[in-house]
Amino acid sequence: MEKKQIDWANIGFNYIQTDKRYVSNYKDGAWDEGGLTEDANIVLNECAGVLQYAQTVFEGLKAYTTEDGHIVTFRPDLNGERMENSAKYLEMPVFPKERFLDAVVKTVEANAAYVPPYGSGATLYIRPYMFGSNPVIGVKPADEFQFRVFTTPVGPYFKGGAKPITIKVSDFDRAAPRGTGNIKAGLNYAMSLHAIVTAHEEGYAENMYLDAATRTKVEETGGANFIFITKDNKVVTPKSDSILPSITRRSLLYVAKEYLGLETEEREVYLDEVKDFAECGLCGTAAVVSPVGKIVDHGREICLPSGMDEMGPVTKKLYDTLTGIQMGKIEAPEGWIKVIK
Ligand SMILES: *Cc1c(COP(=O)(O)O)cnc(C)c1O
Repeated sequence: MEKKQIDWANIGFNYIQTDKRYVSNYKDGAWDEGGLTEDANIVLNECAGVLQYAQTVFEGLKAYTTEDGHIVTFRPDLNGERMENSAKYLEMPVFPKERFLDAVVKTVEANAAYVPPYGSGATLYIRPYMFGSNPVIGVKPADEFQFRVFTTPVGPYFKGGAKPITIKVSDFDRAAPRGTGNIKAGLNYAMSLHAIVTAHEEGYAENMYLDAATRTKVEETGGANFIFITKDNKVVTPKSDSILPSITRRSLLYVAKEYLGLETEEREVYLDEVKDFAECGLCGTAAVVSPVGKIVDHGREICLPSGMDEMGPVTKKLYDTLTGIQMGKIEAPEGWIKVIK
């Protein structure tokens, strides 16, 4: 298979249309057989549920080329499970995780020419999603839905190494207690746009959101969970019902414990104690881990001892181990790597 002629190192994180995508429709209480199509456009009624009341959920994962030339994805079963949970919460029919896996595999196989080569640092981003497609004007769930998977190649997240970022404690809230913070829904991102544009205007790379009820505890950023490293090398991650359960974060905790022999702790993390940590990172599929060098809380600067030049040493070990597993350089735990071809 001939790879596409793409400048893999310089494509960034932008939509590049690929050849095929997967579509399945839900109507009269059942999903149809589904299959691949070349049509990248969707024609919807003007009153479609997704357009009026944002009934839509999504997932994000990547396909990589490993050192030995296979195309693989990382723990896609967990994305399938999470999408089932997201759908249930938004009163959408579940697209079963077995079918989710099949759709991901078919879409990646069909776009294999767009999976960046090993060593390029680029990957094929996979976006499964689902939305209410029939007209809805009174507020209620749609009765018809569409599930789709498309792919788009994305460049290396860190060009020229992972430089620590500066983030701010946001004055806005991302998620309400007993709300939708723990599901992967577009609506959580819609309401984060004003906050991120504001943060960028002020010169910050990201927002640190606090718990909306007390504004004393660390939750997450717009699209990544936090990990902190204590001065005695313990890996700590905030626990809250309104955080999105990041697969990267769950995998890093496993790697910390089982591969690196580090103690791990999932617990409430107070903003007041952040100054005592040695390292901080943001974790998610896009970057795996972005190191945080400085957190600004209304003029008060919290400077992590790991500094602004490079990833802290423990964060770096976690990053290297997890990316090594993903790229097939380090043996993966049972079931983590799904070989596509
Ligand atoms: C997707 C997402 C993450 C990261 O999850 P991964 O499974 O690691 O990619 C973190 N926070 C939010 C709000 C997200 O939507």
